[in-house]
Amino acid sequence: MEPPTRPRTLSAWLSALAACALLLASPAGRAGPPAAAAARPVICLDPGHPSETSAGTATASGVTENHLNWVVALKLRKLLEARGWKVVMTKSSEGEKVTNRRRAEIANAAGAALMLRLHCDSASARGLAVYFPDRQGKKYGVTGPSRAVIAASRALAKPFYRAAVAALKGYVPSRGVHGESATLIGSKQGALTGSIFARVPVLTVEMVVLNNPTDAAFITAEAGQDRMARALAAGVEACRGIRPR
Ligand SMILES: [Zn+2]
Repeated sequence: MEPPTRPRTLSAWLSALAACALLLASPAGRAGPPAAAAARPVICLDPGHPSETSAGTATASGVTENHLNWVVALKLRKLLEARGWKVVMTKSSEGEKVTNRRRAEIANAAGAALMLRLHCDSASARGLAVYFPDRQGKKYGVTGPSRAVIAASRALAKPFYRAAVAALKGYVPSRGVHGESATLIGSKQGALTGSIFARVPVLTVEMVVLNNPTDAAFITAEAGQDRMARALAAGVEACRGIRPR
């Protein structure tokens, strides 16, 4: 229960300002009150898996993505709470199965400034990547997210990514910011299911590539998990003060 704090570093301020500028430049985005005027900002952390679609991947040594997402999310929650964020989780235990639709509904009910979805990827290249909904999709007869959520998510994606990548320099390379339409599910549905039902800005971070031995070694070590949590916290801090809905 620590009092709300503001970004402590110059870079955090600059990132936040850049994010604000991006949001204001977005025709569909609407800026809300500044952080100082708001209550504790709310973030929804969504440790990926298990869901209706997948239990998650695993490293060659058998450490599961579900476990890594959960462990990093707990570390990130601690960091963000210490910085004044109210953190709402989509799961209450590592093994809890929560559908992707339900995850979005939890973020919506919390009125989160950001829903941050933690995953690890399976790919040919190493590194961290960030995905945002770049167009509407359809699932269970529902079309979403709204154009305002798309614009707000897009506005947060780069500031978040830049801050996270900077904090991981020398440890985890970067794989860019991408629209969800570039993902397998997004190419079929238009957006990820969790985004279709999101009424708050949503980012999915693929923290590392788990089938890459170097990335897997990084994220399975506690020092790597700590560093990743700090990098994601820096990313979240870069989004602070923005209330895009
Ligand atoms: Zn995943």
